[in-house]
Amino acid sequence: MNKLVVKKMELGPIGTNAFLNWEEGGEEAILIDAPPDCAKEVQQVLHEQNLTLKEIWLTHGHWDHMAGAHELVDENIEVLGHMDDRMMFEDPAVMTQFSIPGLELKPVQITRWISDGDELSFLGRSVKVLHCPGHCPGNVAFWVGAENLCFVGDVIFSGSIGRTDLPGGDFPALERSIREKIYPLPDGTALAVGHGPDTSVRQEKLTNPFVRP
Ligand SMILES: [Zn+2]
Repeated sequence: MNKLVVKKMELGPIGTNAFLNWEEGGEEAILIDAPPDCAKEVQQVLHEQNLTLKEIWLTHGHWDHMAGAHELVDENIEVLGHMDDRMMFEDPAVMTQFSIPGLELKPVQITRWISDGDELSFLGRSVKVLHCPGHCPGNVAFWVGAENLCFVGDVIFSGSIGRTDLPGGDFPALERSIREKIYPLPDGTALAVGHGPDTSVRQEKLTNPFVRP
């Protein structure tokens, strides 16, 4: 197995982290989250690295994580998401009042619905889907055990947690998701988060002021 490259890109009008992933020397890429207007920057990296985008994995249905997907998809690209955010994937305009004035929110068709406990293949590595509701109903984390890495969307941030005041938000559910799904991961697991700097399970268990282990 060749080295995994995880390229973090902060994109879109409110600075959402997207992660473009490929193997050194490989030809295929997987994008995790697709902020609005991300296509140009993503396509530039694909071109420079001589990669073909095969899959887009969406951590959740909020507009700032999915509204750029429609520009990247074609019939060969699989798009993954959780059914509990279906309405936001298919009709993101329902979140317009929580978006940026004037920004048109385009839907994306999910081609593969994923559920808690699903095992996915991530460039030859095994990934476990962890359903972590609370920030929104359908937020999932993608745990890449072999790389000590977990993509968490907006469940938890460095020293913070996802907001729970948007439609479908639920603080007790978020607390449970963090305690039961994120904190039990190995301490050394790096957390690739939806906004701001990366962190780790160890760091958040020790210092996160909002959800204590
Ligand atoms: Zn969100």
